[in-house]
Amino acid sequence: MLSTQRGGKPAAPEGYVGSEELLFGRAIGALPESASLAVAAHAELCPEASSIVHRHKAVAGALIETLEPATLNEGALDRALKAIAGEEQASVAPLAAEAARDGLDLPAVLRRYVGPDVDALRWKRVMKGVREAELPVSDGAVCRTRLMHIDSGRPVLQHGHNGLELTLLLQGAYGDCTGEYRRGDLQVADEEIDHKPVAFGGEDCLCLVVTDAPIRFTGPFGGLLNLFVRYK
Ligand code: ZN
Repeated sequence: MLSTQRGGKPAAPEGYVGSEELLFGRAIGALPESASLAVAAHAELCPEASSIVHRHKAVAGALIETLEPATLNEGALDRALKAIAGEEQASVAPLAAEAARDGLDLPAVLRRYVGPDVDALRWKRVMKGVREAELPVSDGAVCRTRLMHIDSGRPVLQHGHNGLELTLLLQGAYGDCTGEYRRGDLQVADEEIDHKPVAFGGEDCLCLVVTDAPIRFTGPFGGLLNLFVRYK
């Protein structure tokens, strides 16, 4: 499901950035590596998103052919052309022809960052039932990119956002005030969203999460937590 906004709800709730901008950004190579990874992995799992990216690429390619060379600087034009041609290079080396050992069916673009075994990543406990492992991206100084594992039935602390938070569901499901999200769904939360995702369905939840700003804790102890914890 192309679900940057709606999760299990029929209509998009307010406060979500539209998916089209992200898919268009992916199509023309305008996204930083972290967001590009999330959107590319989303497109692998969601045929609707994939077809939109390809449609944008076709339109962007036609547009670029009409531009004078001076309209875009050399670097931007080169990136756009590579993206449209599907020749973008990730900052990580391609995974060797080694079979995945963790039994997870991850998108190929994400597997290049994760390696053959998610359990071999450096996982850190965030809170009870929640842990995460950083992934290397070229814009890591600005955006955090990580896998997050939430035990079945466990919540993430209630929080709001000071920027964008992209969450791609890879396994399991979670629900919040905006709806329910399952494998392949990409939730885009911004400053307008205050939520408390809870893993449900009897299966642990595995997500790819990209954030470009610290979150704000908004639960019962949120004010206190914000004094001591800066969590991006
Ligand atoms: Zn959030």
